[in-house]
Amino acid sequence: MSSEIYYRCVSELEAMLDRREIAAVELLRVFMERKSAVDDKVGAFLSEYPDEAMSAAEASDKRRASGAKLGPLDGIPVGLKDLLAVKGQKLTCASRILENYVSPYTGTAMAKLESAGAVFWGRLNMDEFAMGSSCENSAFKKTRNPWDLSRIPGGSSGGSAAAVSAGECACSLGSDTGGSIRQPASLCGVVGLKPTYGLVSRYGLAAFASSLDQIGPFTRSVKDAAILLNAIAGYDKLDSTSVNIGIPDYLSALSPDSLRGAKIGVPSEYFIDGMDPEVRACVEKSIKKCAGLGAEIVEISLPHTDLAIPVYYIIATAEASSNLARYDGVRYTRRSAEARDVVDMYFKSRAEGFGEEVKRRVILGSYVLSSGYYDAYYLRAQKVRTLIRRDFESAFEKVDVILTPTSPTTAFKLGEKVSDPLSMYLNDIFTINVNLAGLPGISVPCGISAGGLPIGLQMIGKAFDEARLLSYAYAFEQASECNGQNPKL
Ligand code: GLN
Repeated sequence: MSSEIYYRCVSELEAMLDRREIAAVELLRVFMERKSAVDDKVGAFLSEYPDEAMSAAEASDKRRASGAKLGPLDGIPVGLKDLLAVKGQKLTCASRILENYVSPYTGTAMAKLESAGAVFWGRLNMDEFAMGSSCENSAFKKTRNPWDLSRIPGGSSGGSAAAVSAGECACSLGSDTGGSIRQPASLCGVVGLKPTYGLVSRYGLAAFASSLDQIGPFTRSVKDAAILLNAIAGYDKLDSTSVNIGIPDYLSALSPDSLRGAKIGVPSEYFIDGMDPEVRACVEKSIKKCAGLGAEIVEISLPHTDLAIPVYYIIATAEASSNLARYDGVRYTRRSAEARDVVDMYFKSRAEGFGEEVKRRVILGSYVLSSGYYDAYYLRAQKVRTLIRRDFESAFEKVDVILTPTSPTTAFKLGEKVSDPLSMYLNDIFTINVNLAGLPGISVPCGISAGGLPIGLQMIGKAFDEARLLSYAYAFEQASECNGQNPKL
């Protein structure tokens, strides 16, 4: 058997399982062995559930043997960002404050994956409470980029991206509030999809900024992203922002010819000074490639783009300050042993439990919501958010999809930006707008830099137009030279 089963796509693994070339229990062992071999270096995992996973894999093998396979994910080992609730598994958000927390229930997207036969066996590192762009804000460990271990994997879902990139699981789920799926996918050379706000239930996703957060997949191919989205999308009455619309079959919508006649918008505001020239050149080449595949390229303008970062850091921190108020030392969390009285207990538990970036954001968020500043900051930010959304609405009157770089640079060195939060925030300059507008976005590998680092192309779609978005991404991927390249690890 090839030593590189761990680098195969879900769709290929499904075929191998169907042909009985491998059993689900053997497949799980392949990934476990790979994890033992490389995770000392990569550091993607926070916890593992080998016994539970083995039982799930055995059950999957029994289903296949009796002709009762549940679908393409039956028996596939999946990793989860450590803020997604699975009953009986830890959920730490990579924070000391939740170090010993165990989920009492399974969230909707995870329950859907489970009932599709997926095997959960590991929980993956992230920036604490999904706040960050490099995974360096985890309270527990550093995750490294499998393409270059001296570099960051991106964030906040850095563990989810690195684990798929390094072949430690077949695919994974992460969450994206301002880029946390697309940016690490781009930096680790895998596919990352942020669905339209409201398409995938947020029930069982520990909240960071509720009006921006979405769960989405990390995969080795666009086809696999369609398989995962098929499994997790859909209305859920347990999430009040879930949208009740018909869900197409994303997999059968994929066509290698879909870019023929497509109208692709390229916003001038996304090709800025200060971006890495290699990223720019690679994305420009990718745009030409789409034109070569029959797409019409239309220059567009998204004039409020440069306001996205300040608007995001007002809205996201405001929502975070409210969402994180629940971690008070009374419920869920660790309680300070030092406390003298109840108020002291709140203060000390939070002071001991939260890391620096989380504290910075809670303070900023409380400030922008405070009386006297609410109108000047929070309310204004909401108004500008509307302008950003309208920019996209008018662009989408002319085009079907928008192409941009995912990240302005390739993966940077560990430690390079930790002491400069503002330069860290600038990393998400191309992804944040998409969350503010509630739109779907996908990052697809589009090249490798001279230094051997992956570069990602972002495609942004109309709301709930994932079928078309995935199909365009698929057509691009099929024609791309970097399709199927893996880190040498
Ligand atoms: N990097 C951004 C932040 O730090 C986005 C994070 C995310 O999408 N969860 O907030």
